[in-house]
Amino acid sequence: MAAVRTSLTIAAMNTTSASTSSALPRIAVLATGGTIAGAAPDATNTSGYQAGVVGVGQLLAAVPSLASVANVQAEQVASVDSKDMTLALWTKLAQRVNALLASDEIDGVVITHGTDTLEETAYLLHLTVKGDKPVVLTAAMRPSSALSADGPLNLLNAVTVAGKAEAKGQGVLVAFNNRIHSARDVVKTSTYAVDAFQSPEIGALGWVQDGRVEFQRGVVRPHTLATPFVIGDAWPVVEVVTSYAGVSRVAIDALVAAGVQGIVVAGTGNGSIHSAMQTALAEAAATGVAVVRSSRVGSGHVMHNGAAADDALGFVTAGALNPYKARVLLMLALAAGLTTAAALQQVFDRY
Ligand code: ASP
Repeated sequence: MAAVRTSLTIAAMNTTSASTSSALPRIAVLATGGTIAGAAPDATNTSGYQAGVVGVGQLLAAVPSLASVANVQAEQVASVDSKDMTLALWTKLAQRVNALLASDEIDGVVITHGTDTLEETAYLLHLTVKGDKPVVLTAAMRPSSALSADGPLNLLNAVTVAGKAEAKGQGVLVAFNNRIHSARDVVKTSTYAVDAFQSPEIGALGWVQDGRVEFQRGVVRPHTLATPFVIGDAWPVVEVVTSYAGVSRVAIDALVAAGVQGIVVAGTGNGSIHSAMQTALAEAAATGVAVVRSSRVGSGHVMHNGAAADDALGFVTAGALNPYKARVLLMLALAAGLTTAAALQQVFDRY
């Protein structure tokens, strides 16, 4: 879990002429671990490897063509399997991105990350980093040691996107398998395929291939500079629970007893909740616990049922955010002092 930061300049590793490199965008690559930095004992092993063991220098050295698209400055911010992402590491990462965005020496930031929680980190940064320079996350489904490892091309594409003027002001982006997604929309949809990320319903923002980047739509909801959310060290406790056939109220009662400030429900269908669990959640909401309904379905949105249901129960609805992204937004809103269901609903309707 130690988050060691080292710094190196890839322009020095990949010798390019000064005249060429001086015209290139200056991109900071922040490595955090993940399968993109994973290694297995043999090249056909794509499931039994160890994530986050290959250093950023080695990742970049595997992609010599980076030197022709950017002057890359690299940092090892962490070396974790992203299943073990922590709130403290989120704070550290967001603060480092903010510092780089404020620097005149940097034109864009790329973050290498594990795929498991990439969508959560990306949305967190989308809401909290302050700058309009490109910030692009990427990852890999196959470890660096694998036949046809996807990390090197994903990294090259992410750096390419981060160096493009068109990527400015679009919020945090995810470049993966040639597609460019908005951090708000993207979700992991496959446990094994290299085409593991989609933006359900709405689709990708654009694509990147062979050095060319094309955006096919823009990002509508406010992000980065246009949000009131700031990164801090204090994180409200918000947990996610799931509704399913035969579920009881036990988990809700345990969470309330433990003192959580918020609960996000991965509901069935349109965020519907088993009545046994819903009764416990309404009681929790009445005592001041923020309760957000989202859906376990994976696409679509959760409609707010207004006075007849949600308002009477004190529930907030997540719209198109999946439960894990809804948790990110709820934590930030609670940290910003927004606690009533009405205020939180406005946040979910806007961001
Ligand atoms: N468990 C890995 C991680 O999230 C999976 C990956 O990166 O694909 O770090």
